[in-house]
Amino acid sequence: MAKGYFLFNFIHKFLSFIENICFPITCCSCGAFVDSEGLCPECWKKIKWIDNPKCKICGTPFELDIEAVCAECLRKRPHFDEAVSVMEYDDFSKGMILRFKHGDTTYISRQLATWIYRAAENVIKNADIIIPVPIHFFKRLKRKYNQSELLALELKKLSGISYEPRILRKNKHTPQQEGLSRIMRLKNVNGSFGVNSQYSDLLRGRTVVLVDDVLTTGATVNECSKILKKHGAIKVTVLTVARVNYGTSRHFEKLMFPV
Ligand SMILES: [Zn+2]
Ligand SMILES: [Zn+2]
Repeated sequence: MAKGYFLFNFIHKFLSFIENICFPITCCSCGAFVDSEGLCPECWKKIKWIDNPKCKICGTPFELDIEAVCAECLRKRPHFDEAVSVMEYDDFSKGMILRFKHGDTTYISRQLATWIYRAAENVIKNADIIIPVPIHFFKRLKRKYNQSELLALELKKLSGISYEPRILRKNKHTPQQEGLSRIMRLKNVNGSFGVNSQYSDLLRGRTVVLVDDVLTTGATVNECSKILKKHGAIKVTVLTVARVNYGTSRHFEKLMFPV
């Protein structure tokens, strides 16, 4: 019995050793070798995590510790009910996400989804469906994968909640949102998403978690949320890895209102 155990232990350690040589675990951001999946200590220090206080709807971080809705959400309430992001979109997170999005480093999705899950565990557990923001067929051909689908799939594995990548579809092949002004982004996404009719019944009365990699102006997720609600979803929560922080300036905070 003891002999068998030691032999098993030895083989397990030996195989792990070989695996580490053939497939070393690397930092999600800089590619340095690490002991376990995630970030190396240097990269870990560079993340700007998003926590309270923040806008109760769009999640933009506040400097003042108050329960509030930001001026932008008060001016025009988004179609989604809440947006939760893990970290601020800055030079550091941009590098990590671009590596994930365009660098074939799809394994990063596990770590990114784990962070999203930790930030919004209650929301995900109480949802009915996890839906990724779709990309157009041509873009998928070029990129080979949809990064939002990978994140959503990992969230399904972590939560056990139903994952439905076929409900939403991208109708139009639109230019990249990156580099466009807010107005151009709105025009760009207007009418560019739809619901596949054979799955539309799945949305009626359902609570949806909508997953994307980055929230910039919110134009894309807002358009998707509008379509999801039009087809019967009762609540849409947007989950992203990162979001652009427009709320750190004092000027913006002066425009906030407590709720
Ligand atoms: Zn690193
Ligand atoms: Zn807001």
